Amino acid sequence: MPKPEPRPDPRPEPRCPVCRKPANPKHAPFCSEGCRNRDLIAWLDEHYVVPGRPIGEDDEPG
Ligand SMILES: [Zn+2]
Repeated sequence: MPKPEPRPDPRPEPRCPVCRKPANPKHAPFCSEGCRNRDLIAWLDEHYVVPGRPIGEDDEPG
């Protein structure tokens, strides 16, 4: 009777959302600190943009 093939992991391995490499539990859900920082920077870049409102123009009446 043949033995059933041993499976390395029944669950799909989590992947780094930045570079799609297998994630490192130490830096989950990323694969490394570099990717973690990259994602954070990208997030800040997107959310720190202030639309409109030119800075340095004081147009207050009075
Ligand atoms: Zn990565």
